[in-house]
Amino acid sequence: RSKATQKGTLTVFNDNMLQNLTKRKEITEMLRGAVDNNEFYLHFQPQVYVQENMAWGVEALIRWNNPKLGFVSPGDFIEIAEEGQEIIKIGQWVLEESCKFIKTCQNEESKGVKISVNISPVQLIQENFVDLVFETLDRYDVDYSFLEIEVTESIMVESYEVIYSTLSKLRDKGIKVAIDDFGTGYSSLSYLTKLPIDTIKIDKSFVDDIERDSRKKHLVTTVIEMAKIMNLELVIEGVETKKQYEYFASIASARVQGYYIAKPMPKKQVLSKLKELTN
Ligand code: C2E
Ligand code: MG
Ligand code: MG
Ligand code: MG
Repeated sequence: RSKATQKGTLTVFNDNMLQNLTKRKEITEMLRGAVDNNEFYLHFQPQVYVQENMAWGVEALIRWNNPKLGFVSPGDFIEIAEEGQEIIKIGQWVLEESCKFIKTCQNEESKGVKISVNISPVQLIQENFVDLVFETLDRYDVDYSFLEIEVTESIMVESYEVIYSTLSKLRDKGIKVAIDDFGTGYSSLSYLTKLPIDTIKIDKSFVDDIERDSRKKHLVTTVIEMAKIMNLELVIEGVETKKQYEYFASIASARVQGYYIAKPMPKKQVLSKLKELTN
């Protein structure tokens, strides 16, 4: 064989890919028992109203510590959990833990604190999803208005009818719907006028570098204006600097989430952080 062909073979399947495949296989296996073995826990990241400097609540973010694999980040396992349908059980676990968190807040004099929960498209298209959500909130005695769900734009492209009806049923009972990572997906702006949603979360990639990149700044400002016109609530994600925070405070009535305010953290810590933010 010529060198060129060998090189070609290497690009088709190399060590790196083998490692990735092995890793995926391990993750797939380890995911199976993970809920039952209590390997998951939640972190909570505060969201504050940028103009009032007051807490809205938190986003629930899943964490996984597996005895064999160690810490695996959601970016590395959610997609795999979606392929194997494990996400349904995991997502239900997240919802229940989120309900418990809200109950704790209400017992600890953080009565107004709300929670935003990421929902996978795989969960959303389950036939019993809406009933399951209502049943869960009822079981924990959590008022529907304390829950916001986060879905991504990509789901709107497929199964539009199903999604539309699911989101509408949830909203009819007071659950809020947010579009996560807004601006990174495929959806056109016209979706915003059609979809039953309350909130858009502007992705971190639109916030990064805003101090230096004036085109980005214009873009984000335009999206914010548009959200205002459409009466949508706004969350700005990934705010890391004082400059960014102050810029958004000067132009928008929005919620802000990011390391500048607080990193995602365990229950106990976030509870004191929320008190600090509210004072
Ligand atoms: P997301 O929903 O867009 O969550 C925001 C991500 O940005 C989180 O990463 C958060 O830790 C990170 N982040 C927040 N503020 C900052 C900042 O100022 N700077 C930087 N560099 N990062 C920031 P995380 O926790 O690793 O989660 C990654 C993604 O995994 C989430 O993106 C979400 O899509 C998914 N995910 C997390 N928890 C769940 C869950 O319970 N269910 C589902 N289906 N997906 C989840
Ligand atoms: Mg999210
Ligand atoms: Mg996001
Ligand atoms: Mg994301």
